[in-house]
Amino acid sequence: MKPTHIEHIGIAVASLEKAIPFFEKILGTACYAIEEVKDQRVKTAFFKVGQTKIELLESTDPEGPIGKFLQKKGEGIHHIAFAVEDVNKTLEEASAAGIELIDKTSRKGAEGLNIGFLHPKSTHSVLMEFCG
Ligand code: ZN
Repeated sequence: MKPTHIEHIGIAVASLEKAIPFFEKILGTACYAIEEVKDQRVKTAFFKVGQTKIELLESTDPEGPIGKFLQKKGEGIHHIAFAVEDVNKTLEEASAAGIELIDKTSRKGAEGLNIGFLHPKSTHSVLMEFCG
């Protein structure tokens, strides 16, 4: 496990429409992509800050992961994604190191990337994603 950089930071928002103008202002850059990820029941909006992205997450289903997060905690940082070369290999290494996984194998996330989540129980309560 040796991520090359922080690929993105996921932030749960109540409304993309309301949040996008704020992030465009504070980051001085336009949102370059809006994409629905049906599998995760979210609509995402992306910004680039150097080689790291900010991924805004709006729920499309109150029973989905972001819908539940918003009900429980409100808006805020949802997860940190680390860029790795091989997501499946990295998930295997994490599992072998005794880290509990949410995803035993990678699945497709936004931007066509492979993603896999670690369980926050094993990661000091920070939801972590490998992404590549
Ligand atoms: Zn993510």
